[in-house]
Amino acid sequence: MNSNNNLRSDTLTTVASFENEPIERLFLDEINASYAELRLLLPSLPNQLRVIFGTNYDYGEDGVTGSAVSADVIKIGIDSSVVDRTKQYEKIRSLVFHEGYHLAQNFHLGSQFSAVESAIYEGCATIFERDYADSTPKWANYSKEDTATLWRWYEAMKDISAEQYFEPSGETWKKWAFYDAETNESWRVYKVGTWLVEDILKKNDLDIIDLSSMTASDILTYLQKNKHNLVKS
Ligand SMILES: [Zn+2]
Repeated sequence: MNSNNNLRSDTLTTVASFENEPIERLFLDEINASYAELRLLLPSLPNQLRVIFGTNYDYGEDGVTGSAVSADVIKIGIDSSVVDRTKQYEKIRSLVFHEGYHLAQNFHLGSQFSAVESAIYEGCATIFERDYADSTPKWANYSKEDTATLWRWYEAMKDISAEQYFEPSGETWKKWAFYDAETNESWRVYKVGTWLVEDILKKNDLDIIDLSSMTASDILTYLQKNKHNLVKS
């Protein structure tokens, strides 16, 4: 054991702060191994990833949460009340891949993004974790939505500025990213983003890694080119 575990200088990840250290410590090796693997796929990522343990929102059924905080920091939430941690362990790799992809695209809390930009970034990270970390993100499954619905959501998102999307209360963001009680619709940002980015990859014969250093507005230029086809399909 490393006697100074907060400074895991032998590894690519350091812990900035723990929330429930004895439990979170159990996940450090898996986080580090996942990040080491991720950096081989996305070499532009920082040499050292800093991890803050904790969460800003509900754990959900998986018992883990993640968010990209700044250029080299991700936040990981581990629900300490979970008894069998198997599922939590299994989720770490896809979580690190998802949040790491956000860092590669500079999509983190250090800046503000409009709803459409956020949808593109979430779609990219979701497809990346699915394709490269063998996950099946249920929040991105849009198979039950018809094209008209997805298109309507996309059009509505275009009216939501960065200022409104990331308003201090978090209300607009949560409604579009998670659940809207008024309409009973869920995960619209993820569904629309995944739908759009999948279409862009397919029509331009690209791999999700090809988009890893592009901004959302760069990626949206592909969409302008393909818009006609997308509406029709
Ligand atoms: Zn995300």
